[in-house]
Amino acid sequence: MSITADIRSTVTDLRASVAALHAELPRNELVIWTAGNVSARVPGHELLVIKPSGVSYDELTPESMVVTDFDGTLVEGDRAPSSDTAAHAYVYRHLPHVGGVVHTHSRYATAWAAIGEPIPCVLTMIADEFGGEIPVGPFALIGDDSIGRASRTPCADTLRGHRSRAVLMRGHGPFTIGRDARDAVKAAVMVEDVARAVFIARQLGNPTPLPQADIETLFDR
Ligand SMILES: [Zn+2]
Repeated sequence: MSITADIRSTVTDLRASVAALHAELPRNELVIWTAGNVSARVPGHELLVIKPSGVSYDELTPESMVVTDFDGTLVEGDRAPSSDTAAHAYVYRHLPHVGGVVHTHSRYATAWAAIGEPIPCVLTMIADEFGGEIPVGPFALIGDDSIGRASRTPCADTLRGHRSRAVLMRGHGPFTIGRDARDAVKAAVMVEDVARAVFIARQLGNPTPLPQADIETLFDR
């Protein structure tokens, strides 16, 4: 697959927006070092734009972003794609409504992933943003060098059965999705914020899940 003339301007725009959105990860304290990434689907094509591997956030430019196909094979770019590319590609392949994916190891969401417990829907903000508890997906070895070998990433399977835009991969950290990359970044910021708030609430007492009818009203709004 290659970048055809009809999608050149779309890819150029996505390179710029994905590069800019990476700045939100350190700004919102979701990442340390280079461990977190944003991607965007090229609409109508089996292509995605993602961060290159191992480049620090303040060195990312639109030109340094890479384009891969849904096997994680490099289509355009000077560097290797993020080692999480196969996981992002799997989400796009299996969830056609998703336009953006974010993966981080943000601290509080990752703590919930470590104990393998869903974040309960005890705040209106969780109902608004996620429509219920934030689920836990199975443990999976991802982010190795098996890009292109069709590594299967079950976060898409968990997300498909749930209206939450976030999933906590057991023993790993959060993945979030959105209608575009910006929406997925917003979900990554929100999941970390509610993970922290509910953690603090647990220190104060026993937070009570919201009634399901109220969750439905909040989510529909
Ligand atoms: Zn990871």
